[in-house]
Amino acid sequence: MATLKAVRGTRDLLPPETELWNRIETTARRVFARYNFGEIRTPVFEDTALFARSVGEETDIVSKEMYTWEDRARAQSEKTQSLTLRPENTAGVVRAYIEHGLGESGQLQKLYYIGPQFRRERPQKGRYRQFWQIGAEVIGPPSSGSESPLRDAEVLEMLAALLEELGITGWTLELNSVGSSADRATYNDVLRAALVQVQGKMCGDCQRRAVTNPLRVLDCKVPEDQPIIEKLPKIGDSLGEDSKAHFAAVLAALDAVGVPYMLNQRLVRGLDYYTRTTFEFTHGGLGAQNALLGGGRYDGLSEAIGGPKAPGIGFAICLDRLVLTLQAADPVRKAAPPQVDAYIAPIGESLNAAGLVLARELRQSGLRVELGDGSFRLKKSFEAADKVARNIVILGEDELRSDILTVKDFATGTQSKVPRAELAAYFAKLPGE
Ligand code: AMP
Repeated sequence: MATLKAVRGTRDLLPPETELWNRIETTARRVFARYNFGEIRTPVFEDTALFARSVGEETDIVSKEMYTWEDRARAQSEKTQSLTLRPENTAGVVRAYIEHGLGESGQLQKLYYIGPQFRRERPQKGRYRQFWQIGAEVIGPPSSGSESPLRDAEVLEMLAALLEELGITGWTLELNSVGSSADRATYNDVLRAALVQVQGKMCGDCQRRAVTNPLRVLDCKVPEDQPIIEKLPKIGDSLGEDSKAHFAAVLAALDAVGVPYMLNQRLVRGLDYYTRTTFEFTHGGLGAQNALLGGGRYDGLSEAIGGPKAPGIGFAICLDRLVLTLQAADPVRKAAPPQVDAYIAPIGESLNAAGLVLARELRQSGLRVELGDGSFRLKKSFEAADKVARNIVILGEDELRSDILTVKDFATGTQSKVPRAELAAYFAKLPGE
């Protein structure tokens, strides 16, 4: 029979690598709490219409990459429904914001999430069909100040602080403004007209995009197309006065707080809901898939899915790529499994239960403990212990009766007799990893 494997584009995350994942998640939660964000968890699947109306029917995500199915009716009274595994989490958060009337308090809502997202993309290093995002959204009624450029700057400064706390250096913040939806529509027309002249000389994808979604031409990576794209009209020239003033205020606040950035007028991003500020943090260590995170403002999103006016700004960091970046910077971490403090070796199966009791005692005092098996010969116990632990504790009949245990420290080779009551303190005193 053919062996079953994880589906293409998905993967198992195993220890010790999962420790790094947990460390990143814990750091993100700590940093977000400092900026007064609370956690939101939304379902991994939603009504397909949510993504069609928010991310946009014409985007690659909705037109090609979603995992969508017709959910069968379980009873005659039930209708079938088109459902989709979430390709991103902002739409779900805004749906929840509307559904629970979170704007009614008049307060700005600051919400973060950590979870898997699903896109049927061509898998490669740093690009998966199930990947993880850590993201956050700042959203609220206009009276809560949700439209203020200060919010954009605060979110970007928080991201810089998070990357610093994670020990990730060498990133670049690329920043742009795509203007209001009216500005974007103007630019779309300008771009479409300009493309009519040059699209014949461009790649097949660009020829198609020139008709369906001209903004996407700016994402083209084909080297021969670059000189043509550089000469196309820039979005900055289509921005209205309000959008220009908003963007200038974001930049001034970033300058004041000392977050460095690079302006990139080609950064329009792949989702239709973005308005005004858009950004990406890139990292050279990632290769072709160099975007660590992306985000922007989405002032019309709530209304697009039937909610009240609720401007907002958010981002999504790819957790998989944070892990790749940290592993590339510190390959040792990838290899070394953490060692347990003590390996308990019961001598004989009749001592297994006593071994479990001793392990429980030591674990309750906070030690990391592995429990062997009394059916092992002593030599096998030593070999097993040496692979995972810094010390082995021998638990035979004598040790159980006298409450004095034999402990061998593998690093120094010393063997000691330690009273049971002092074991936890004895291990805690030894130098750790
Ligand atoms: P987006 O939701 O498209 O704005 O993407 C936000 C971030 O998620 C990007 O900057 C990437 O870091 C990451 N990302 C998007 N698609 C994938 C994927 N298929 N695999 C891994 N990371 C992804």
